[in-house]
Amino acid sequence: MLNLFWFRRDLRLTDNAGLFHCLKNFKNVQPIFIFDTNILNALKNPKDTRVSFIHYQVAELKAQLQKQGSDLWVFVGNPLDVFKWLFKNHSLHSVTTNSDYEPSALERDYEVANLVRDYNGEFQSFKDQVIFEKSEILTDAKKPYTVFTPYKNKWLGSLNASHFNSYETGKYFSNLNKAKSKKALITLKELGFEEIAKDFFPPPILNKNLLKKYQAERDFPALDATTHLGLHLRFGTVSIREMAREGQKLSATWLSELIWREFFMQILFHYPHVVKGSFKEVYDNIKWRNSPGDFKKWCEGKTGYPLVDAGMRELNSTGFMHNRVRMVTASFLCKHLLIYWLEGERYFASKLLDYDLSANNGNWQWAAGTGCDAAPYFRVFNPTTQMEKFDPDYKYVKKWVPEFGTAKQLPPMIDHVEARDRCLREYKKALSSSS
Ligand code: FAD
Repeated sequence: MLNLFWFRRDLRLTDNAGLFHCLKNFKNVQPIFIFDTNILNALKNPKDTRVSFIHYQVAELKAQLQKQGSDLWVFVGNPLDVFKWLFKNHSLHSVTTNSDYEPSALERDYEVANLVRDYNGEFQSFKDQVIFEKSEILTDAKKPYTVFTPYKNKWLGSLNASHFNSYETGKYFSNLNKAKSKKALITLKELGFEEIAKDFFPPPILNKNLLKKYQAERDFPALDATTHLGLHLRFGTVSIREMAREGQKLSATWLSELIWREFFMQILFHYPHVVKGSFKEVYDNIKWRNSPGDFKKWCEGKTGYPLVDAGMRELNSTGFMHNRVRMVTASFLCKHLLIYWLEGERYFASKLLDYDLSANNGNWQWAAGTGCDAAPYFRVFNPTTQMEKFDPDYKYVKKWVPEFGTAKQLPPMIDHVEARDRCLREYKKALSSSS
């Protein structure tokens, strides 16, 4: 009988918790991957870079497994249908995977687990993408934290050395199912997507020198002094345990960023309503202007505010935007243009290589002032002073806005002071109408 290991956002063989337990507990472990058509069909852009990235990683996993005399079985479809087919056509004992905490993933896994049990199979799922999951970090009153600093303190206080231990999957590779023949991988073209050159993606390498200077340099976009590992943390092409271990050794500030990641994951897990609306629901009373013309200017990086435009142009051409600039562009959309934060959140979701629902949603709500532990609504970033402070030599803006400082530079689409006053008026009105 076969035991399936199902890869999802954990696309690596080494230090993979679920794979380790599966290989340790069972023989004849058959790894599988499913290109989920529920997800693929919702992606409108055939040039979606993330699909190409996943395809490279799946090809890599397949090659690594073939080296071990095994193979990766790859399917395309709705996971529930794929498992029905697998149970009908193979003799299966169990399905193992790593936990995913997004609402749609929880629903999918609930259905798959029920199906597996209907066939008298065993379904098990392990913590892999975080150090602490679900309700492992709670207040003394056993409630989820909604403010970051006490969450972080409890997170750090709950750590012991074993939390960072790697899972040595290699010890049990002999339990992989032997492949009788090697199956070719479906091509991206067959999946309906275009191939993006490999060097478009940052490598899964943690630069230790960068970590040592992270605290001092991370806020300056021209220095490009952050790790670009978001994509790899998202798809599990690096191990969070290894990353957190290095963070603890080399940079408490960087470790703190990894804790922000888990903070927003547990917010999404405990408060799934954030996917569709403001964490603090009263903020959904704001009369957003939602001007399509303004939104277009923002998306295209044509607002006339160089730092905002540089960020949007960086995002559009690389799938990345520096964190400081993400904060400024997001704030500009919600507060200066009074466009509902979910519009911006969806735009980032369509473009960011490191797009992650919990981090994107949490940070957008932070910027809009509608979330847990958010920037107070009356703090409105001034995009010009932000540029003076964090890009004092205009190196970053000049890279992305070549017309900066020339006659061709666009005038600001809205006056900062006017926009700020309008924003404060609208936020105040919404809050007072609900009290
Ligand atoms: P580093 O600075 O090297 O940080 C390391 C890792 O820590 C990141 O890769 C990420 O996993 C995590 N991290 C860092 N900052 C945060 C944060 N504020 N919240 C949660 N996790 C964090 N991050 C995402 O991973 N996915 C998103 O979709 C996303 N959307 C964002 C939207 C807005 C409006 C803002 C303001 C921030 C967003 N962030 C998001 C957080 C942050 O900007 C990125 O994680 C970071 O810029 C990625 O670059 P890096 O990998 O070089 O990060």
